[in-house]
Amino acid sequence: MNGAKTRMYSRRDAVATLAAGAAGIAALGAGARLVGAGGSDGGAARRALGQDGTPTTAAPTGPYTLPPLPYDVAALEPHIDTLTMRIHHDRHHQTYVDNLNKAVADLPDLAALDPVTLIQRLDRVPEEKRAAVRNNGGGHANHALFWEIIGPGGGGEPTGAVGDAIAAAFGGFAALREAVEAAGLARFGSGWAWLIVGADGKLAVTSTPNQDNPLMAGVADVPGTPVLGVDVWEHAYYLKYQNKRKDYLAAWWNTVNWDAVNERFAAAQGG
Ligand code: MN
Repeated sequence: MNGAKTRMYSRRDAVATLAAGAAGIAALGAGARLVGAGGSDGGAARRALGQDGTPTTAAPTGPYTLPPLPYDVAALEPHIDTLTMRIHHDRHHQTYVDNLNKAVADLPDLAALDPVTLIQRLDRVPEEKRAAVRNNGGGHANHALFWEIIGPGGGGEPTGAVGDAIAAAFGGFAALREAVEAAGLARFGSGWAWLIVGADGKLAVTSTPNQDNPLMAGVADVPGTPVLGVDVWEHAYYLKYQNKRKDYLAAWWNTVNWDAVNERFAAAQGG
């Protein structure tokens, strides 16, 4: 198992390095490490070869790569169940990455950008590729944030500077929770609810449809830099919560990693 995993990493790393160039890899940082002996990784590697074993360009395996889940798939039990985490990360997020790589296959200048920068430059994407980059680049960036701002041992009251800012902007954590849950519940169909730092430097709650992100200028109703986001696509909760999105949202707070949210809050204010 470990041996096979190591070989897979080496293989995919090599492919990604060839495809991405130094700038892309540097921008991706730790994200360039590859995940998943669980099937999707091997599948992606296999898809890069035609039936006769020669490389094809149909399904590139880079430059974007699935960041490893920074904890075990079972670590968020009972709030988010193991199977949901496995499918959500290993399949859904992988698919956004794969489809983003297809979309930028002939766009080397854009493909050199890190995902968060890429989705802020949709105006530079040729029109025929823009929807694919918006949806799959958004999907990649949104999920990369999502895995980081939740984790084992999470939950509780907001801490640090973001805790103070939440108290100032909303009057307290209970009011923030209500606002985020209301935004998530009001989002018809699929999308996200966000806590953002707006252009005025203040915290605000908003939501986006599909895989849009508040950083997408000219797309998001309320633009800003997300410091926290909750996925309200059914794939994020249906196995455990079925149609009870409200229960999922209430339980999800028990996974929030406030240290990670504070890091994003500091970066959003600095930038
Ligand atoms: Mn999702």
